[in-house]
Amino acid sequence: MKEFELIKQFFTEQAVKRKDVLLGIGDDCAVVSSTENQNIVVTTDTLVAGVHFPLGTSPKAIGHKAVAVNLSDIAAMGAKPSWISLAITLPEVNDDWLSEFCSGVFELCEYYNVQLIGGDTTQGPLSITITAQGITPEGKYLSRSGAKSGDWLYVTGELGDAALALQHYKESVLTENDIIEQVQNKLDFPKPRVLAGQALREYASAAIDISDGLLSDLGHICQASNVGANIVLDAIPLSDAMKKSQSFDDSVHLALNGGDDYELLFTVSEDKKVGMETALSHAGTVITCIGQINASQIISTTLNNKAVPIRNSGFEHFSSKKST
Ligand code: ADP
Ligand code: MG
Repeated sequence: MKEFELIKQFFTEQAVKRKDVLLGIGDDCAVVSSTENQNIVVTTDTLVAGVHFPLGTSPKAIGHKAVAVNLSDIAAMGAKPSWISLAITLPEVNDDWLSEFCSGVFELCEYYNVQLIGGDTTQGPLSITITAQGITPEGKYLSRSGAKSGDWLYVTGELGDAALALQHYKESVLTENDIIEQVQNKLDFPKPRVLAGQALREYASAAIDISDGLLSDLGHICQASNVGANIVLDAIPLSDAMKKSQSFDDSVHLALNGGDDYELLFTVSEDKKVGMETALSHAGTVITCIGQINASQIISTTLNNKAVPIRNSGFEHFSSKKST
């Protein structure tokens, strides 16, 4: 099959037809219209087979995840996603594979009214790169750098399940099928916190999405904001699947160091706390306060109100970066 036939068959037809897309797939560039008083946020993420997802991952999950990880970045900026482009490298043209992959891509696009406006198709080892764009009112985007000493630290959802699924993939640590299914689903079909991100725009002082693990991503906020933080380990939200199958220690270790959660981690000042909690409950998002920002420049953890050492690598990564 020729490249343009493939593009026509799989990528051109889509349910989302946005008014602000003046030219979509088919020309040398896509053209979108922008209005005054808005900012456009742009992000790119690549998924390489065997690196960012296990080789046996279903094509639908790969399509979903490729879009989800990008929309998660858009959510972390408090923006509303609008357009994506898709650069895909395929080892071969397999119709069944491609249509399943596209169903994963377009399901999420339709849900958030995001239009695929262009891309590139090449042959080689499987790799998917998506560039996503989103819109915020002018100057109203979130960033990593606004956290202040005294701000409260929150996360959406539950942490560590995707890391548990990866651990199971490598070491077969789980036995119960329903637990395997639940954590596998979290790894394969992460739900980007798009509505929560927009709701946070008026309230959060800093935000990031958790892609590399809580400690590592909190480290990014601390570094960008020039602050430290304390995490209350007993407050970290864990799923029932995690609690049933893992010790508390192992659960916390996975939540702190595992990646692929795609939850939002954000900070909010005392005076915006109640307003934020109301807004997020209207957005239907469960959030948990897991600690507080301080002026220490390091990340510490407490359990039962007592300081405990961190068993991880992310912390050292953060502190060693600080000292160089
Ligand atoms: P060019 O050589 O001018 O870059 P291409 O032949 O690569 O054009 O692509 C033709 C059109 O199809 C372009 O509009 C491009 O954006 C789009 N396109 C190519 N691959 C994809 C893809 N995987 N998904 C969406 N659009 C694509
Ligand atoms: Mg091209």
